[in-house]
Amino acid sequence: PHDLNRHDLDDILGTINEEVRQRFGEGKLPDYIPSLADVPEDRFGMALALPDGRIHAVGNARDPFSIQSVSKVFTLTLAMSAVGDELWKRVDREPSGDPFNSLVQLEYEKGIPRNPFMNAGALVTADVVLSSYADAEATLLEFMRARSGNPEVGTDEVVAKSERESGHRNVAMANFIRSYGNLDNDVDAVLGFYYLQCSLRMDCVDLARSVQYLADAGHCATSDVQVTSAEGATRINSVMMTAGTYDAAGDFAYYVGLPAKSGVGGGIVAVVPHVMGVCVWSPGLDDKGNSLLGRYALHRFTRMTGLSVF
Ligand code: GLU
Repeated sequence: PHDLNRHDLDDILGTINEEVRQRFGEGKLPDYIPSLADVPEDRFGMALALPDGRIHAVGNARDPFSIQSVSKVFTLTLAMSAVGDELWKRVDREPSGDPFNSLVQLEYEKGIPRNPFMNAGALVTADVVLSSYADAEATLLEFMRARSGNPEVGTDEVVAKSERESGHRNVAMANFIRSYGNLDNDVDAVLGFYYLQCSLRMDCVDLARSVQYLADAGHCATSDVQVTSAEGATRINSVMMTAGTYDAAGDFAYYVGLPAKSGVGGGIVAVVPHVMGVCVWSPGLDDKGNSLLGRYALHRFTRMTGLSVF
């Protein structure tokens, strides 16, 4: 399967695109962040980024969307680069089996979140990034622009504001973690950075390019930079596999078989280790918060290509 050529990949993407478009309307837009509910549901895009810089794309692959929790992959990378294994003293790396915005385990585990991809863990990761870089916001923006090769990447103020106004649960979570001493910065600063990362607007091509370093031992083809070590890439992929798709990570491993990270904006990035970075987007979600058609597209993709890691 590793010698799939341009023609095969374009055919496969074309087939997936046709299948997915028959199923528009099956997912549900998230309503807990009001501005995310305004997006048209009948959209689907998919992009593949190869280590030689080649891109294959189909459908709405150039429509920007709110990347939401997909950003957690990149802040995890920044936090690991800054503090290495020290990070794991403050956040665990176990799947949670609970919804992404759950608080329950925090009390038993004394403010140590289960993994960096649930909201609680992402808040601790955001805190580490804030403490580690002089201008964390600029660092993150620069990181995303360099990885995607798109100097226009920015944030969506309307989404960030909508999240700030409706993020009562995140406020509770950040204060709860802080009460255990596991946040160094002000709760408001941590939440502000977290909303900024979630409100980044990017498209499937940008994001496929942005995760490609995880498919090539940490080397980013777009910027020709070693973003993390080969071992760092392996570690991040393993956390994506076990915890990247909310409480459906088991199902993802079963059907898709790739490390992946989803966001409630309908985007999912996936990594085919040693082969390519992938991004799919379709705004309708399933009951766990993953893009329903995005997940279906990834399932079809690994079935047709044989590229599941299993
Ligand atoms: N900003 C969203 C939240 O805090 C992110 C959720 C997600 O994409 O998983 O609820």
